[in-house]
Amino acid sequence: TKQFELASRPEGWPTLENFRLAEAPLAELGEGQVLVKNHAISVDPYMRGRMNDVKSYVPPFQLDQPLEGGAVGEVISSRAEGLIAGDIVVHGLGWREYAVLDAGSVKKVDASLAPETAFLGALGMTGLTAYAGLVKVADFKAGDVVFVSGAAGAVGSLVGQIAKAMGASWVIGSAGSAEKVAKLLELGFDAAFNYHDGPVKDQLGAALAEAPAGTTGIDVYFDNVGGEHLEAAISTLNPFGRVALCGAISQYNSTEAPTAPRNLALAIGKQLTLRGFIVGSYAQYADEYAALIAPWLADGKIRYEETVVHGIENTAQAFIDMLGGANTGKMVITLD
Ligand code: NDP
Repeated sequence: TKQFELASRPEGWPTLENFRLAEAPLAELGEGQVLVKNHAISVDPYMRGRMNDVKSYVPPFQLDQPLEGGAVGEVISSRAEGLIAGDIVVHGLGWREYAVLDAGSVKKVDASLAPETAFLGALGMTGLTAYAGLVKVADFKAGDVVFVSGAAGAVGSLVGQIAKAMGASWVIGSAGSAEKVAKLLELGFDAAFNYHDGPVKDQLGAALAEAPAGTTGIDVYFDNVGGEHLEAAISTLNPFGRVALCGAISQYNSTEAPTAPRNLALAIGKQLTLRGFIVGSYAQYADEYAALIAPWLADGKIRYEETVVHGIENTAQAFIDMLGGANTGKMVITLD
C-alpha cells in the first residue's frame, strides 16, 4: 500500500522534499480490527505543527514514519463486532491508501446523508470546530456583530454562515483573494475584504461602516489567523467582546517571532474574553451540531465548499497548497 512518510522536518514553508511516498506492506488483520480502503483524505493546517519536533497538544510526527490525519473510507474486511465490509467509516489514518485499525478507532457514518467527503468537512471535525468555537467558546448570541478571519476556508466559511443562520446582525469575513471575497458575499456574509489589499484594521473599519446604524464595533471575533488580524480585532471589539482563538495560521510557517498583537492591554479596559480551544474537547456537542446543521445543509441555507484534488500521490502538494491558500472551503484528496 502507498503511504506518505515524513522524510525531513520543514523549516519554514514545507516543500515536497519533506515528504516521501513509500510502499509499505499491510499489517495482518488482528482480532477486533478492520481493513479500510481510504476514499478521501483530509489535509489540515494543524498537521504543520505536528511536523515540528516540539511538545504540543498532539505528539509530533516521527521521521520516516507514516503521516496521520483524518480520512473516510470503506471497510474491506472486518474481524470486529458491529462492523462489516461495505461500512463507511471516518478515522485518523489518512495519508495512505489502506489502513488497519482497531474497531474503537473508527467511527461509522451514514453515507446516505451526504457525499463521503462531507464527513471530513461540514459534517466532521471542521464543522464542529466552527460551531463549538462560535457558540460554546465565543458565546455567540443572536444580534452579535461577528468578524471571522480565514473566512473562505473550511472552518471560516462555516463560522460565518452559522452565525448568519443563528441571527447575527452583521458578519464580516476576511480572505486572501478577490475571488474568495466574492464567494463570501455569495455565501451570505454581509461584508468581506481581501487582507492583501491594505491594513486589516482599516478594512475592518470600512466593513463595519456599512453595518446597521448603531453598530459600534464587533462583539465576536473568530480567529483562524492570529497576528495582524488579531490585533485589528482587539482594537475593534466592543466592551465585553469575545474572541475564539481557533488558529494562528499566519504563524505556522514563520521562522520569526510574531510582531502582533501589540495592543493586548486594550483587553483589560474593554474587559474582553480571549479563549483558546481545541475541538477535541467539544466532542460532546457533536450530536447537537449534527442536528442543527442537517436541515440547513438540506435546504441550502448553509453551503459547504470543497477543493478536491485527486490521487494519493498529490496529497503532500495539496497540503502545501492549502497552507498557501489554494483552497476555497475544505481541501480534500480523493482516491481511486
Ligand atoms: P482552511 O481551509 O482555512 O485553509 C487554510 C487557509 O488559511 C488558506 O486557505 C489561506 O486562505 C489561509 N491562510 C494561509 N496563510 C495565511 C496568512 N498568513 N494570513 C491569513 N490567512 C492565511 O483551514 P481550516 O479551515 O482547516 O483551518 C482554519 C484554522 O482553524 C487554522 O488556523 C487551523 O489551525 C484552525 N483549526 C483549529 C482547530 C482547533 O481545534 N482549535 C480545529 C481545526 C482547525 P487565504 O487565501 O484566505 O489566505
